Formats: sequence, C-alpha cells, structure tokens
Amino acid sequence: MRMHLPFVCSLPLVFSAVILAQPGAPREAGSIFVLKAARTFDGESMHEGWSVRVKGERIEAAGPSSGVDTSGAKLIDLGSATLMPGLVEGHSHVLLHAYSETPWNDQVEHEALALRVARATNHLRDTLMAGFTTIRDLGTEGAGYADVGLKQAVNQGIIPGPRMLVVTRAIVATGTYGPKGFVPEWTVPQGAEEADGENLARVVRDQISRGADWIKLYGDYRWGPHPGSHPTFSLEEMKLAVETAKNAGVPVAVHTSTPEGMRRAILAGAETIEHGNEGTPEIYRLMVEHHVALCPTLTAGGGRGGRGGQGESPMRTRRRESFKAALDAGVTILSGSDVGTFPHGDNARELEAMVEFGMTPLHALKAATSVAGQVLHMEIGEVKPGMLADLIAVDGDPTQQISAVRRVKFVMKGGTIYRQ
Ligand SMILES: [Zn+2]
Repeated sequence: MRMHLPFVCSLPLVFSAVILAQPGAPREAGSIFVLKAARTFDGESMHEGWSVRVKGERIEAAGPSSGVDTSGAKLIDLGSATLMPGLVEGHSHVLLHAYSETPWNDQVEHEALALRVARATNHLRDTLMAGFTTIRDLGTEGAGYADVGLKQAVNQGIIPGPRMLVVTRAIVATGTYGPKGFVPEWTVPQGAEEADGENLARVVRDQISRGADWIKLYGDYRWGPHPGSHPTFSLEEMKLAVETAKNAGVPVAVHTSTPEGMRRAILAGAETIEHGNEGTPEIYRLMVEHHVALCPTLTAGGGRGGRGGQGESPMRTRRRESFKAALDAGVTILSGSDVGTFPHGDNARELEAMVEFGMTPLHALKAATSVAGQVLHMEIGEVKPGMLADLIAVDGDPTQQISAVRRVKFVMKGGTIYRQ
C-alpha cells in the first residue's frame, strides 16, 4: 500500500535530495495526489474535511474526503492547515527590485539587462515560494522583452516560478514617461515604448507578435509643467489600441489614477484599470456598468499592508476613501500590489492592505483567487474538477485572519510540488 506512505519509495527520495540543493526545484511531476487538510477554501467559501484529487496538471475531484477516490494516489496529509487555490498577483514587475534598494531611475539607467534578468529569476522563485502561483507582469520598465524569455524559462522548467502573463514593454504616449529631466537636445531611451495616434495599432501588433499576453497602456502620468498626473492618450487613441488588441483576443490593462484617464479607459474597452487612486463614485459606477475590474495596488498607493510604522497621512486617507467608494459601488477587484516597487515574495502585503482598507478577508481572498481567475481568463483560482492544480496550504484560517496567507507550508503548481 505504497500510496499511504508519501515520499517513501525510492524515486521521490532522489528528488528530495535535489530539492535540498536547489530550493524551489520541482518534484514528482505527473503523479496522482490526494491532498487532505482540516479546511479547504475552494475560492468561494470554506469547507471542513475535504480532500482534493490531482491527476497530472489538473484537479480531478474535490469534496468531502469520504467521496474522493484515493486509488493509485500519493496521499499528502496537510494536517491542520488550510488548503486553497494558489494566489494570484495581478500587478507585478519582476524586472524591478525594491525602490528602497535602488530608485527606479537608477535601475533603468544603470543596471544591465543580464543583471536585471538574473535578479528576476530570484524574484520569480520567491514569488512562487510565497504561494503566488500566477502573476500578471505589467511592464519590463526598460528591460525590453525579457519577460517573454523569463516566462519561457518557467514554462520549460528551467527556473521555478509562477505562471506568467506578460505585456513586454508597455505603451506610453510620447514625452510622458521617464527617465526625464535631461537637456532637450538629448533623446533618452524610455522605460516603456512610445506610441501616438495611428501608430498605436502598429505598436500593439508588434508587442503582441513578440509575446504580449496583455497590452498595457499608460492612460495618465506625471507629465507637463503642472504637478500630479494628467491624461495622456485621447479616447480615440485608446479605442484604437483596444480594438487592435481585441482582434488577437488580447485584453488591455490601463494604468490610470485620474478620473478623466479612468473614464477614457472604461469607454475605450479596457478590461482592468491599474491603481485608480482618484476614482470617484461616478467613475466606479461607470466601471461596474462596463464590467471593468480594478487592480487597486494599495500597497503602492499608501496602504501599509500590515507593516505598521507610519500613521494616517492625507494620501492614505484619500486612498482609503476612494477604495471604499469602489467597494460600495460593487466594482470587481483584482488583487495586485505593484510588487517590484517593494520586495518580491512579500506580495501578501496587498491582501493585508485591502483588509486594512475595509474589505473582508473572504472578499480579499477571492480577489486573489476565484475573481482573479475570471478577470485573467484562466482556469485557476478555484478548487474544483477541471481547474489547473495550483494549490497551496497555509497555517491557520485566512478567512478569519488574512495574514495566515504569509504562513505558506505547501505549494503545488500544475500538479507539481514546489514546496512542502
Ligand atoms: Zn506597476
């Protein structure tokens, strides 16, 4: 009855040796597993006494343990932990590292591509080990198309990492992005690809041809003589970009914080709005009407995400109010943190920040699991038959205390165990 003694037969021991030498090395790909835990969060609600059967890369069965077939499977008893879908990071930058280490300008201007890629491989491993099994990476910030190659490296099993949706360089209106502040005679390479007018169609097509899964536009940014963010692309430009991407079945995410930038993104057909810091009740109602999801990145916008230390600031108060207005309006929330501006692997900050700013822990968990799966059009985020077997186990009950998502004990992605 070998299936009752997980990791005791000879082959897994070989893999165990490998995992000691190389953290995050996958093991036992392609096996049949039955995972059992005190509680299972299926992406919608919590259940006690469930088991989950995994075959190959997908979930084959999930439900009360008495009804889940264990034949031919390796049993993994996760004890008192909570089994749940792998977490989704809706807004990352794996080619950036914390601004507290190196400001954005210095990373973009002085760090070689190979250096940035080398760091990114560590970032991807740290993300996966923290229980985030999918990321939507929203721009390489001057590192070209390196996200496409990193995604291939993960998919080919060369480096451990989450599933990746990538956008390549992201698209900005000419003269609006950075690095900036140079003499006007100098033309300095930018942290994203510039495009305007009819040329937007060409640039969208070009980025898709080079591997973009999503297109990211900057709908407003800090540019021009006046402080603060100002709209960049016209509604017509955004519409052209969205229509062009839609032909290839590629959705569009728009970075925008101002009400006018948000309004244009919504009317143009964007699927997600990134940040949305200054959203108003009217704008949020428009988002609901047009089925646009909000990726709030509270961590980057003043939410301290359980880090403690700083008190309430005017920026935090405004952010708290606008996020509450989004919740009150019923806007779909995709959890995304803008990680890369702070250390990779600390992505849970965003879930803590959302709860701190008024979301229930259950609602925050859904924003990083089942809702995220729907917004990203992926078969992830739910524990049910047919879904990809991206499963994690955490100590404690995250529906009671959200910080339980930091206590990751087990990580499986696509039926392969990366952490146990
Ligand atoms: Zn970002």
